[in-house]
Amino acid sequence: MNTGRLSEYGENMDFQVGQVVKLKKQHPCGANAWEIIRVGADFRLRCTGCSHQVMLARRLVEKNFKGFAENA
Ligand SMILES: [Zn+2]
Repeated sequence: MNTGRLSEYGENMDFQVGQVVKLKKQHPCGANAWEIIRVGADFRLRCTGCSHQVMLARRLVEKNFKGFAENA
């Protein structure tokens, strides 16, 4: 996973609804894996730990992106 090449608006990265991404930003519940509920300029993400949903700007998702979770 090449994390050193993130474009400003994410055209290099192919996020899709249903994927689970790991972020550097950890939710207070302890989980750092988030299921993608909606993509766009802002993403809707659901915490895999507690099912809390958040909206996060795409560039912040990319900035905090650590990889895709292998097992949700
Ligand atoms: Zn959580």
